[in-house]
Amino acid sequence: MNYEPTEAFARECDEADTLAIFRERFHLPRRVNGDPVIYFAGNSLGLQPKAVRAGVEQELADWANLGVDGHFRGATPWYSYHEVFRESAARLVGASPREVVMMNTLTVNLHLMMVSFFRPSSERNRVMMEYPAFPSDTYAITSQLHVHGLDPKDALIAVRPRDGAHLLSTEDILSEIERQSGRLALVLFGGVNYYTGQAYDIRAITEAAHRVGAVAGFDLAHAAGNVLLSLHDWNVDFAVWCHYKYLNSGPGAVAGCFIHERHAENRNLPRFAGWWGNDPDTRFRMHLQAEFDPRASADGWQISNPPILSLAPVRASLDLFDEAGMPALRAKSERLTGYLMFLLDELPRGRFEVVTPREANRRGCQVSILVHDRPRALFDALHGEGVVCDFREPNVIRVAPVPLYNSFHEVWRFAQVLRRHVDAA
Ligand SMILES: *Cc1c(COP(=O)(O)O)cnc(C)c1O
Repeated sequence: MNYEPTEAFARECDEADTLAIFRERFHLPRRVNGDPVIYFAGNSLGLQPKAVRAGVEQELADWANLGVDGHFRGATPWYSYHEVFRESAARLVGASPREVVMMNTLTVNLHLMMVSFFRPSSERNRVMMEYPAFPSDTYAITSQLHVHGLDPKDALIAVRPRDGAHLLSTEDILSEIERQSGRLALVLFGGVNYYTGQAYDIRAITEAAHRVGAVAGFDLAHAAGNVLLSLHDWNVDFAVWCHYKYLNSGPGAVAGCFIHERHAENRNLPRFAGWWGNDPDTRFRMHLQAEFDPRASADGWQISNPPILSLAPVRASLDLFDEAGMPALRAKSERLTGYLMFLLDELPRGRFEVVTPREANRRGCQVSILVHDRPRALFDALHGEGVVCDFREPNVIRVAPVPLYNSFHEVWRFAQVLRRHVDAA
C-alpha cells in the first residue's frame, strides 16, 4: 500500500473511508478541554456503542412491566435470549450457528472447555501453550493440571521465542508439537498474542495438533472482532473469547464459546452440566432422577440462565459488526495499522522498536512498541497529551487503532505526538 506522511493524506483516507460513519455511533471519552482523546485502547476495553443504553433500558422496562412474564413475553423473551446471538456469533468467528454460544466469561469458559477436552491419560497428559501467555490462561491451565494430579513442571510446555527474538516462528510451534507427539493432550494457544500483537497460524497449529492426536483449543480474546476467523473450516476443536475488548460490550461482558460441531453434537461428551444446557422442553423436570439431556449444540455447555442485563450490550455491539461486516472492517484495519507502521518507520530510532510483525497476515490491529529508554516516562507523556493506550511490564506500549471508531487522522496525530517525545530524548 502507498502511504504519505502528510496530514492531507490522512484526511483523504478518512474521506474515502466508507466505515468512517461508525465513529459517531460510539461515545468517545474526552479530555478536560472537551476534545476527544485518541483512544487506542480498544484492545483492552472497547468504547461504548450509543445503542447500548436503549438495549439495556428495554430489558429493565420489560422486567419492570412484566416481572416473571418477561421470560416469554418480553420484547426479546429471556427464555431464549441467548439464541439471538447465533447468527452474529457464527459470522464473527467463522462458525455454523450450532457451534457458538454466548455465556459466562472467558476464563470460566476456558475451564469448562478443559473439563470436556483436556482428559489426560498416563501417557498423553501435556498441555502446550505460547510464551508469553496472558496470566489468566496460565493460572487456568496450571490449576487444571493440579486438578488432574499433574505437575506443571512436567506437563506444561511453553513455546518461547528464540534467543533475542520477540516473536514465535510458526516453524518452531509446529516442530514442538511434533516433538511432543503422543505425550501431547492439548494445544492451547492464543489467536493474536496480547503482548506482541502477533497473529498465529490457527489452521496450521490445529492441523499439527491433530496429526499427533492432540486437541486444538484457542483463546481468541485478542483475535475475535480483530482478524478474520474460520474456526469451522480450520477444524478448531474449541475456542473462547471475550466481548469487552474489540467487541465493545462493556467491562466484564458475557463471553463467547465455540465448539466444533463434531464435538458439539456429541451429547455424551463429559461436561459440567446445569439446567440451561439441557433441552429447553425438558429442563424443568425438577425431580431427583432427572437425567441431563443436553442440547446437541454449543448450547449444551450452558450452565445457568444467562444474565440478560449483561447480554443486552453484547447484542447492541454485535449489531454494529453485522452492519459493517468483518471483511470490510479487517480491510480498513490492515490499512489503518499499516499506516501506523509506516509513520513509525519515519521516526528516529533508538528509543523504541516495533515488535509486532509487519505483514498484515501476521498481526491484528495492535502495534506493540518496545521502548528501550525510560518506557514508563514515554507512556506517561503520551497519556498527558490525550493518547489513551496501555503499558505492559516491563517495557511495551500497546497501541490499537480499531477500524470501527478510529481514524487515519488520529493515527497521524499519534505519530506527531510520539515524534515530539522521541526527538526530545
Ligand atoms: C483479556 C484476556 C483474558 C481475560 O479473561 P477474563 O476471564 O475475561 O477476565 C484472558 N486471556 C487472554 C489472552 C486475554 O487477552
